[in-house]
Amino acid sequence: MADGKNMYLDYNATTPVDPRVLAAMQPYWHEVFGNPHSRDHRYGWDAAEAVEASRAQVAALIGAAPHEIVFTSGGTESINQALRGLNYSTPNGRAGIITFAAEHEAVLATCRDLTVRWLVPHTTVPMLPDGSPCWTALQEALQHQPCCVVALMAANNETGDVYDVQRAARIAHEHGALLLCDAVQAAGKMLLDVRAMEVDMLALSAHKLYGPKGVGALYVRGGTQHIQLAPLLTGGGQECGLRSGTLNMPGIVGFGAACHWALREMAEATLQLGRHRDRLETALVSDLPDVSINGGRRDRLPNTSNLCFHGVEARALIRDMHEVCVSTRSACSSSSAGPSHVLKALGLSDDDAYSSIRFSVGRRTTDAEIDMAVEKVLRSVRKLRQLQSISY
Ligand code: PLP
Repeated sequence: MADGKNMYLDYNATTPVDPRVLAAMQPYWHEVFGNPHSRDHRYGWDAAEAVEASRAQVAALIGAAPHEIVFTSGGTESINQALRGLNYSTPNGRAGIITFAAEHEAVLATCRDLTVRWLVPHTTVPMLPDGSPCWTALQEALQHQPCCVVALMAANNETGDVYDVQRAARIAHEHGALLLCDAVQAAGKMLLDVRAMEVDMLALSAHKLYGPKGVGALYVRGGTQHIQLAPLLTGGGQECGLRSGTLNMPGIVGFGAACHWALREMAEATLQLGRHRDRLETALVSDLPDVSINGGRRDRLPNTSNLCFHGVEARALIRDMHEVCVSTRSACSSSSAGPSHVLKALGLSDDDAYSSIRFSVGRRTTDAEIDMAVEKVLRSVRKLRQLQSISY
């Protein structure tokens, strides 16, 4: 997506709403404005019908049944609801949470908070330098501490690494724990099937897949009757009592439409994203010395490339090539000062983590835009390296 000047290569931060999604949402601001919880008239029934149609579309994207989908305000809320809703009390004290070191802050910060407020034990399992989770450490952690839930994301938002969630789920289940999967970044970029993955809960967000911001879902295996969660929000008892509050009708309809198109166009989109990402990555890695790819290369989201420009400060690089809109890490933690916890978890030095940039292409990316971006990156890296060598 180039507006003539800027090149947007930060689709993992957020995506523009697809025009077809926008068109689907349009009637729900003004014409079909009923409250889906009004049971006594046509306006309410029409709205409720639209919510259920969207629920079915969201469920279809991940191979779930509609009654297993709870609408929320986004990925962060879904993750909070899953983690905060569980009961960690056991007759022998508190059961804990196990996460992996490269999880999103929505998971990690929530665990830290649960530890501070409710003394829920939280163990972080390390990642291996090839980007994969350390399974031995997971097994060990489960042997040492009673565990209520293990959290592993489907794909990493910074490196694009895709994880073996089914393996984590099986290990968790062997120890009587649940598996929560943050699929916010993976949804729409790869096929997801909650049955094959064997997950108990899974978080989704509409704005990462060309839907509107501020809407998402939590998949709960078997529905809320099956896995008991205490609600974060209480009130009118909407969403089977798990998420009170009048539903965000346009948002939910947009989310459903976004899932519909993502599923329908997945195969083509994946190929196109991969082609653009590889065009960018190959050009940068082959035309510049001292550039390395962060994360594992075997199993990656097709649209993501996290590159380390050794010896170049990423923030200076981003400032210099400011028309190339990329980021150093996830949007929510990009204002924090420390190095990326994801890259540190992969064993990068602080210097290399500070020299790394995430490029993420999307549906609107074009060859011409990639070529323009490559040219700018090459020019800026060469310039900054030259300036550095002069100042030495
Ligand atoms: N999890 C991952 C992996 C993400 O990339 C994000 C957003 O950046 C979130 C969770 C949070 O989702 P939301 O922005 O819908 O709250």
